[in-house]
Amino acid sequence: MTSGPLVDRFGRVHRDLRISVTDRCSLRCTYCMPEQGVPWLPRDTMLTTEEVVRLAGVAVSLGIEEIRLTGGEPLLRRDLVDVVAGLAALEPSPEISMTTNGVGLAKTARALADAGLTRVNVSIDTLRRDIFLDLAKRDRLKDTLEGIHASAEAGLVPVKLNTVLMRGVNDHEAPDLLGFALEHGYQLRFIEQMPLDAQHQWDRTQMITGEEILERLRVRYDLTPLPDEARGSAPAELFLVDGGPATVGVIASVTMPFCGTCDRVRLTADGMVRNCLFATGETDLRTSLRAGASDEELADLFRASIGAKLPGHGINEPDFLQPPRPMSRIGG
Ligand code: SAM
Ligand code: SF4
Repeated sequence: MTSGPLVDRFGRVHRDLRISVTDRCSLRCTYCMPEQGVPWLPRDTMLTTEEVVRLAGVAVSLGIEEIRLTGGEPLLRRDLVDVVAGLAALEPSPEISMTTNGVGLAKTARALADAGLTRVNVSIDTLRRDIFLDLAKRDRLKDTLEGIHASAEAGLVPVKLNTVLMRGVNDHEAPDLLGFALEHGYQLRFIEQMPLDAQHQWDRTQMITGEEILERLRVRYDLTPLPDEARGSAPAELFLVDGGPATVGVIASVTMPFCGTCDRVRLTADGMVRNCLFATGETDLRTSLRAGASDEELADLFRASIGAKLPGHGINEPDFLQPPRPMSRIGG
């Protein structure tokens, strides 16, 4: 097997791989895709379990230590447990986590944990059924909540919760969501809405900024910033809540970009390597893999992608162009 780390042109070693295992989804979150959905990727372009595990194995040989499964909605992949088991069997064994909307998680949390999944991030934007329906266009709040609790019971801890606030939709719920997380011992992180929706309707003036998120939380909670070392390469700025030990995170990708510490690489469900969420180009591993490329050749493609990584996402530049792939086809 190949060796040598994945290093970008600034010398940063990349250790975190996000694998999107499907672009299909059970919800239609307004900030991600339209109510009618988006055209799904053709089935024959989607990587098989063996292909996912092979490419992940190459990445692990290049120093990847953490693998996060995402989508689309990863729980919609029928052989998800096999994917997790295949990844868990890699040497050296990576830490495997998953970002999910939680719908269906109550049924599979235990099997996923048994297969080697260690943690989950569940996306939950509201605690109100009517707002969930309005925001995600599906009446599934109960499933998401059941999925969250079941993952804690299955030992997929710490359970992290991701929330995107939308102005006039759920932004007033920020303190309630934090209250829910504190009550159950979950770790909540708010994410600024990014220009990655399939509809291209993101509007900077409508985005709830990190500062505004903190303002809304401070109405009910005392927040103390933790030093940057507590954050490492993680994107969330952390705050102690009411003196701690509980914390809340704010991921201000737009207003306070953290590109300088990013150590992530993404593999899409159709086998493309992306060196940034906002990359407008990608590296096709699927074609090479299916044409019989060796592990060394695949490793070179991974390395070349990371080597070509740009210094920042450019959202705040006047010539910023939203990538053609929406979030649901990239993986968060
Ligand atoms: N379906 C799963 C879920 O919702 O958790 C996994 C995929 S989703 C694309 C991953 C994360 O991206 C979720 O936490 C979601 O809230 C976040 N997300 C999606 N669109 C976003 C956007 N435009 N801006 C910020 N975060 C976004
Ligand atoms: Fe689906 Fe996740 Fe996108 Fe919501 S954010 S539509 S759950 S992929």
